[in-house]
Amino acid sequence: KQTMTTTLKQALKAHFGFDSFRSKLQEDIVKAVVRGDRDVFVCMPTGAGKSLCYQLPAMLAEGITLVISPLIALIQDQVDRLKDLNIPACSINSKLPAGERRLILADLESSSPKLKLLYITPEMVASPSFQPCLTGLCSRGLLSYLAVDEAHCVSQWGHDFRPDYLKLGDLRARLPGVPCLALTATAPKNVQDDILKSLRLQLPLSFASPVFRSNLHYDVIFRELLPNPYVHLHAFITKALEQGNGSNGKGCGIVYCRTREGCETVAYQLTKLGVLAKAYHAGLKAGDRIEVQNDWMQGKVLVIVATISFGMGVDKPNVRFVAHWNVAKSLASYYQESGRAGRDGLPSSCRTYYSAKDKEQISFLIRQEVTRKQEKRGSAQETDKMAMKDFEAMVSFCEQEGCRHATISKFFGDKTPNCAGACDYCSNPKVVRAQIARAAALSTR
Ligand code: ADP
Ligand code: MG
Ligand code: ZN
Repeated sequence: KQTMTTTLKQALKAHFGFDSFRSKLQEDIVKAVVRGDRDVFVCMPTGAGKSLCYQLPAMLAEGITLVISPLIALIQDQVDRLKDLNIPACSINSKLPAGERRLILADLESSSPKLKLLYITPEMVASPSFQPCLTGLCSRGLLSYLAVDEAHCVSQWGHDFRPDYLKLGDLRARLPGVPCLALTATAPKNVQDDILKSLRLQLPLSFASPVFRSNLHYDVIFRELLPNPYVHLHAFITKALEQGNGSNGKGCGIVYCRTREGCETVAYQLTKLGVLAKAYHAGLKAGDRIEVQNDWMQGKVLVIVATISFGMGVDKPNVRFVAHWNVAKSLASYYQESGRAGRDGLPSSCRTYYSAKDKEQISFLIRQEVTRKQEKRGSAQETDKMAMKDFEAMVSFCEQEGCRHATISKFFGDKTPNCAGACDYCSNPKVVRAQIARAAALSTR
């Protein structure tokens, strides 16, 4: 056992230049993949280092690892990185010049191919020209692993559904004895079930980062009950920013708004109340947007008031709060957006300002969007209901009497966490109950 760990660490350093695994989870996954006797299912947030979970085993195996990834751009990025590390990787895709393609196929047909990682899109899997090559590799025992990255694309319940991913189940069946590895970021339970079923994973070993993050405090405030919501938000921000003081420099935060006008208004009101806040949305000139983001990244502006276009790929450790001025469009996106708080592990606050008016507006917009899609398509689909279901999960997160962390964990199929007062309901259920009652009274008036 000790030797296995040592071998892996040496290979990690030699091929990728890393001194250690990102996490115990990453190490455990690599070990399970290297063992090679079971299919493996991996659920970890973006940035957790999922690629390494097949790239390192690929380097230690005799043959070739076939990697399925949804987009040529994503593939190109990965292949370039691997080439920089002197790892023999390439991609066969529709954009590849015929000459290069011939060279790759010749290597794959040789008795001992030099290639270690072959990236392809699911469309390519289905292409007849590529079939003989695959079956040839498989029958000669030269396929080490089948890795399906961004595996949520196989699910019609997900937001990135790609019909070609459905063909991967057949591919899997044509590659007997090749262990399959499916990887995705944290996904709702129904999406996870779809992945296991569609890819026909056999008794897979499942690895998932816990959904629960104990340093995040969640609460919900009914905005319509507040005499002055901006003053309320200002007080929240002031308190949240104090939380991390001293330990990790001055903290900062994000307020998410649904519309551009919302961003401008909230930023203006906060600044008037004494917290410098800047708006960020698609209506700004590109240069201004970059400047606002940089000012926030560098801590010159502590509060950014943004539409959800902000935050993709932003990895700032000391975000002390994420406030949603308007309710998020689904519980999955809320988890992702609010999860930008507290990456450094220090106490941080996630708050939603909920309002019945927002609920009406957003469900109207979702219905409108569904109708538009149906008209374009000329028919209804089972999945049309999904957007509304996702939103309803977010609404009940807000309207329910119950632990907020438990609601989130359950949604992602994880076990009930020990919240220990890290949400408004667990720290004071009476306050939550009273708020719901007051909102109900308001709506019937
Ligand atoms: P994911 O697919 O989970 O979003 P990636 O595989 O793209 O994440 O990895 C995210 C980043 O983490 C990459 O820059 C990668 O090089 C880095 N990384 C992965 N494993 C390690 C490790 N053991 N040590 C240091 N950095 C790592
Ligand atoms: Mg990835
Ligand atoms: Zn709780």
